[in-house]
Amino acid sequence: GISANRAMRSLPAIRPAKPRPDAHKFSRGMVLVFAGPMPGAAELTAAAALRAGAGYVVLDGSERAPFAAIIVEGEDKFGERLDDPRVGAVVIGPGFPAGDELLFDVEAVLDSGKPLVLDAAAIAAALPRLSETPCKAILTPHEGEFARTFPQLYGSKIDRAKAAAVRTQAVVVYKGADTIIAAPDGRVAAAWPGSPWLATAGTGDVLAGACGAMLARGGDPFDAAVAAVGWHIARGQAIGPGLVADDLVRA
Ligand code: AMP
Ligand code: MG
Repeated sequence: GISANRAMRSLPAIRPAKPRPDAHKFSRGMVLVFAGPMPGAAELTAAAALRAGAGYVVLDGSERAPFAAIIVEGEDKFGERLDDPRVGAVVIGPGFPAGDELLFDVEAVLDSGKPLVLDAAAIAAALPRLSETPCKAILTPHEGEFARTFPQLYGSKIDRAKAAAVRTQAVVVYKGADTIIAAPDGRVAAAWPGSPWLATAGTGDVLAGACGAMLARGGDPFDAAVAAVGWHIARGQAIGPGLVADDLVRA
């Protein structure tokens, strides 16, 4: 645990990097969000992606745009959007209830080869194919989702996160009061202390969107996940008492 904490401290980026002077909206990263029917999740994820530094966000499968700057499309457009070469990362899963199959859409994302963030029900849906699909992937399970997806893993939370990363060949962000981030190559970071004000509905959707923004910049998925978790906690600590998930993306 101590060495993992040291690893976290040595990684500097906890806020969106200042855009390069020659940046344009697509060079900052374009994120495609495909979120499920649970109210609010799609909006929180898309808003977080934009707020965490993506230059352009498209939200499929929702009618409501959290910000006017976010492009909203029907879910029938999702397949077409996956072919858009400007899309730098796809976030899929927030707002899909546990056990939702989602298979068709998850397979389409895996086939696209795009960097992806898998949250909630999308994690289990992707599991059978993840390790054999070469792609940059970040999984963001909370305790319940982790236990359902990896019931056979045992040991400390760090051990289980590392084993899940090896098994899936993806970066695993094992959320909770302490969040462990593990990469398939053995890198691991622990985020502690977090902000207990984050223990409220919708904050996981915000984290998934932030992971998408960091990943869409084109870098290493472990660094992207660490940056997103750091951003999330820093905002949680700054807002503090009375925090609701919307606050993380509002100001
Ligand atoms: P979810 O359960 O998917 O909505 O995600 C909840 C988010 O809040 C995750 O990023 C957790 O790491 C974070 N979180 C939940 N409870 C706590 C806590 N007690 N202390 C710090 N962070 C928390
Ligand atoms: Mg969640």
